[in-house]
Amino acid sequence: MAKQTMTKKEYRERAARLLDGLAAAIVTDPDRLKQFGEAWRNGFHQYSPMNTMLLMCQPPSRKVVATDGQPHDKDGWLLDAEGEYVLEQVKDHGTLYTGYKKWRERHGRQVTKGMVGALIFVPWFKWVEDEDNPDKKRKKLIGFGTGTVFDVSQTDGDGAPIEIPMGAFGEKEDEVLAALVAYAKDGAGAHVEMSKDVDLTGGWSDGTVVRVNNVDCSNPGSLAHTTAHELGHHELKHAEQRMNGESITRNRAELEAECVAYCVCELLGLQTFGSAEYLGHWRATAEAVKDSAPAILRVASHIADEVAYRMGTKTRRN
Ligand SMILES: [Zn+2]
Repeated sequence: MAKQTMTKKEYRERAARLLDGLAAAIVTDPDRLKQFGEAWRNGFHQYSPMNTMLLMCQPPSRKVVATDGQPHDKDGWLLDAEGEYVLEQVKDHGTLYTGYKKWRERHGRQVTKGMVGALIFVPWFKWVEDEDNPDKKRKKLIGFGTGTVFDVSQTDGDGAPIEIPMGAFGEKEDEVLAALVAYAKDGAGAHVEMSKDVDLTGGWSDGTVVRVNNVDCSNPGSLAHTTAHELGHHELKHAEQRMNGESITRNRAELEAECVAYCVCELLGLQTFGSAEYLGHWRATAEAVKDSAPAILRVASHIADEVAYRMGTKTRRN
């Protein structure tokens, strides 16, 4: 729990100890990292670049209900002059796709009536004898068919579609989230978007916008963690550095943003989980954390101080 009267200097000292602890805990075990990656995907398939392009060309859409006198099919869906369905877009672009059956059986959600799925290519395999190893069979690609997938925005249901294996929780998570968002807007000058979009990407920032996804299906502590992570990118000017052609790598940017998020959450009394795995996933080392420590500690202690002030746990800035 953050002390009521902690100064910015004290925040920085505490953050330095937190950062040392995190650097020592970075997960490098490939099995644990693989598990972490799988948990992150929640059983959702990673589509090939070609299918990803196909999905981008087919925004989530639905059929339109015909009103009196309009041409329609037997179920009442509106048809145009050529007898084709009239469609309207549900959203500009989808974020999370899977098939009709998998939405219901694995994710507890139902594709909403009238929704039109997107077509993707599905590889067809056949089991054939392995010439090098007669006891074994191997899968051989024999062609492609098409399959239909639906975006999460085209489904209904209570089933939680995703669970991101990192985040934070704690007694004051609502207050921390509200104060972080307030600071992001009026202190960091970011345009904050709290989005209902369900996405395996918890959020993103591009130098101007700080976006946090999954606001309806994530706990406030984890939303606070995502906000702090994206604020880390924002305050460390990662997007500007990339636009200016500076050589910050994605690995380095993720390391710094996550270390900021970890320190900020812990300084504000939240318990954080998944950071050590996330750092391992981005190939962080204790040495790299040390190199970035001055920038991380400057930004983390500043954010924590400003957020504590907005939470009312500090009465003056120091
Ligand atoms: Zn990031």
